[in-house]
Amino acid sequence: MNDYKELIQKQRKYFSKGHTKSLEFRIQALQKLRDSIKSNEQELMDALNKVLNKSEFDSYITEIGILLEEIRFTLKHIKKWAKPRKVKSSIAQFGAKSMIYTEPYGVALVISPWNYPFELAVAPLIGAIAAGNCAVLKPSELTPATSELLEKIISGTFPEEYIAVVQGGVETSQGLLKEKWDYIFFTGSVSVGKMIMEAAAKSLTPVTLELGGKSPCIVHKDANLVLAAKRIAWGKFINAGQTCVAPDYLYIHREVQDEFLSLFQKAIVELYTDDVFKSGEFTRIVSERHFNRLTHFIKGSIHYGGKHESSSLTIEPTVLTDVTWEDDVMKEEIFGPILPVLTYSDHSDMIDGINQRPKPLALYVFSESESFQQTILEKISFGGGCINDTVYHLSSPYLPFGGVGESGVGAYRGKGSFDTFSHEKSILKQTTKVDFPFRYQNRKNGLKLLKKVIK
Ligand code: NAD
Repeated sequence: MNDYKELIQKQRKYFSKGHTKSLEFRIQALQKLRDSIKSNEQELMDALNKVLNKSEFDSYITEIGILLEEIRFTLKHIKKWAKPRKVKSSIAQFGAKSMIYTEPYGVALVISPWNYPFELAVAPLIGAIAAGNCAVLKPSELTPATSELLEKIISGTFPEEYIAVVQGGVETSQGLLKEKWDYIFFTGSVSVGKMIMEAAAKSLTPVTLELGGKSPCIVHKDANLVLAAKRIAWGKFINAGQTCVAPDYLYIHREVQDEFLSLFQKAIVELYTDDVFKSGEFTRIVSERHFNRLTHFIKGSIHYGGKHESSSLTIEPTVLTDVTWEDDVMKEEIFGPILPVLTYSDHSDMIDGINQRPKPLALYVFSESESFQQTILEKISFGGGCINDTVYHLSSPYLPFGGVGESGVGAYRGKGSFDTFSHEKSILKQTTKVDFPFRYQNRKNGLKLLKKVIK
C-alpha cells in the first residue's frame, strides 16, 4: 500500500509543476499514445486473442480502431475545448465579464473491467490526458496478457509520475481506493460501483461510474425485421455478448415473434457460421466462473444454440423462448451469448415491465413508427441507445456515453471525456471603472433600487 502512496505523491508533485496543463504537452502526450498503440497493434491483437479468443477484426473494430478514432477526434478539437469560454453576464453584473475556465482535477484513478480490457482502460485515459491530469490505471486481473501489455505500452511511453499502470485484483483496487484521489473513473459491475462510490464519499472525491445492467431490445410489430435480425445478432453476439451495452434480452411483439426468430437464426449463421466451435473465431467466455454462471441459464425452451464447450470456454449463440421475468436468466445481467425472448401484445405492459426494474444502461427499439419510438423514449428512462440499431451509439464521439440510476453516474467519450476530467471554473471579471451602489445594503432606498434590477 505504501507503494501506491509513493506513486501518488510522485504524481502530485509532477502535477503541481504544471507541465500537464500546457496544451502543447497534452497534444504531444496524445500523439505519443496514438503512436504507441499503432506500433503495438499486432501484440495487442495477439494478447486479445489469448485472453478472449478475439478475432483480429473484432480486436481492431472494438479495441484498437475505436481508440485511434477517439484520439484523432480529441486532437482535432482539443484547442477549442480547452479555450476559456466567454458567457453572458446578467444585468446585475453590468460592466463585468463572465468566463468559464477548464482545469484538470489533478491525479485520477481509472479502474477498468475485462470485457474490452485494453479499450476500457485507455478510453478514459484519453480524456484524462486531454484535460491535463496525471493518471493511474488499474486494469482487470482477469485478462493478464492485456494488462501486462498495457503496462508495457504505458511505461514505455510516459514517465510513471505522469501516467502509471498498477496491476492487481480486488485487494490492489481496494488498496488504491484507500488513497486520496482527485478523480475516480470506474467501469465495472453495479455491485462494485457501489463500493467505489462509498470509498470516494469518504474524501468527497468526484466519480464517474460506468456500470451495467439488463439492456432491453424492443422489436415492435412494424419493425423492419430483416435489418432488426441482423443488427441485433451483431450487437448481441459481438464479443460473445460480453458487452455492457449488448441487448440483454429481446422484448418482441407476439405477432412477429416467429418470423423474426427465423430471420434471426439466419443472421446468426451468416455472421458467426452454424458451428462456432469449428470456426474457432467466436470470442470465448472470460473465466470458468462466468462460463458456469452462464451455462446455468441454458435451460427450458432452447430455440436456437445451447451447445457449450468447457475446454475452450465457448458458448454458441443461444436463443431462449417462453421466458418470463421469474426465470433465473431475467434476474441478473447476462453478459454472455444467451438471448432470452419475452413477448408482448400490449405495449404498456412491456413498458411497465421495463420500468419496474433498474434503469437500463442501454435500450434499443426497432420500429418504423415515429410515434411508437417517441413513446418509448418518453416513457422509459435509460442511459442511451439506438432506434433501429444496437450498440452503435457507442461509436459516435458526438454522443456522450453513460448510464442513469443503477446503470451509472456521469458520461464520457468525445468531448464528454474532456468534460468529465475537467473542473469548470466560473470566473466573474469585475470592472473597476464603475461601482453600482444598489448592491450595498447600507445605501438609502437600497432595497427599492435592488427590486428594480432584480424582479
Ligand atoms: P467488476 O466490477 O467485477 O470489476 C471491475 C474492476 O473492479 C476490476 O478492475 C476489478 O479488479 C475491480 N474490483 C472488483 N471487485 C472489487 C472490489 N470489491 N473493490 C474494488 N475493486 C474491485 O466488473 P467486471 O466483471 O470486470 O466487468 C463486468 C461488468 O462491467 C458488467 O456489469 C458490465 O456491464 C460492466 N461494464 C460496464 C461498462 C460501461 O461502460 N458502462 C463497460 C464494460 C463493462
